[in-house]
Amino acid sequence: MILLDGKKTSAKLLEEIKTSVNEMVANGQRAPHLAAILVGTDGASETYVASKVKHCQELGFSSSLFRYGPEITEAELLAAVEAVNNNPEIDGLIVQSPLPKHISFDKVVEAIHPSKDVDGFHPVNVGKMSKGLPAFISATPLGILRMLEQYGVETSGKHCVVIGRSQIVGLPMSILMQRNAYPGNCTVTLCHSRTQDLASYTLQADIIIAAIGIPQFLKADMVKPGAVIIDVGITRVPDASKKSGFSIKGDVDFEAVSEKASFITPVPGGVGLMTICGLLENTLHAAKGTYYQK
Ligand code: NAD
Repeated sequence: MILLDGKKTSAKLLEEIKTSVNEMVANGQRAPHLAAILVGTDGASETYVASKVKHCQELGFSSSLFRYGPEITEAELLAAVEAVNNNPEIDGLIVQSPLPKHISFDKVVEAIHPSKDVDGFHPVNVGKMSKGLPAFISATPLGILRMLEQYGVETSGKHCVVIGRSQIVGLPMSILMQRNAYPGNCTVTLCHSRTQDLASYTLQADIIIAAIGIPQFLKADMVKPGAVIIDVGITRVPDASKKSGFSIKGDVDFEAVSEKASFITPVPGGVGLMTICGLLENTLHAAKGTYYQK
């Protein structure tokens, strides 16, 4: 079994991004600038945004964090997005989810100019990605493609089962894995909460990408020997032995499944770190006026 090491792989890719940023600055251009909008005080969202800002600083990016209280109206938030759209000093914008219930996340995402949509959530970018055109690709699927690429995992002609059909992970992942490209050229099955007899699909899979949000959902008896396992899940479970009071669990029963897998991502230390890479890669593209292209 080979561990798909997100720490090592992301460090390598982030170093490459840093080199590009240094070259831009040496050529008299300004550094890429990522802006984040954070509404409310959700603990996990605070952690995610803080980590993104920290990585920006380490890579020489500029970053801005716009914080708003949970009482902000939808109209006010849309105006805040528009202000970023019109700010020529900012290349990329992310709006951290979840938003308060009175604000439509879809509406806010659609207000972001597609050329600054470095999360790759805007319908224009999703549409272009689906057609195989240059686009910003959702950061987690992009990070997974980079991980497969870095380890030279064979994908052509393989059966890839994606579990979960979210707009940000499962659905784009299923589209990317079937494209005529590397990584890609898979026969893809997209499973979800209404799939009957899920194991009958996962047992046929050469590659399983689990994006469900149920800790240790994928068991060893659902996996074919030699399968490649990508675990996207991140769930906080209570853990009295930890100072924080919780530990992070993936969607895969790592201990048992790793005995059967050919390649597997750990949680933590796998896809999460690659997601940061995907976001910063997109922001570098935004600053250069380019897109991910296969
Ligand atoms: P989501 O939470 O929006 O939806 C979960 C998906 O799982 C749904 O499509 C649903 O159909 C499917 N599902 C639920 N129960 C199922 C079952 N019993 N059988 C089969 N499918 C089932 O999805 P998401 O936003 O992609 O998040 C999934 C997990 O990935 C969460 O733990 C989330 O925290 C994590 N996540 C991690 C990263 C990262 O960077 N590693 C990024 C995004 C999300």
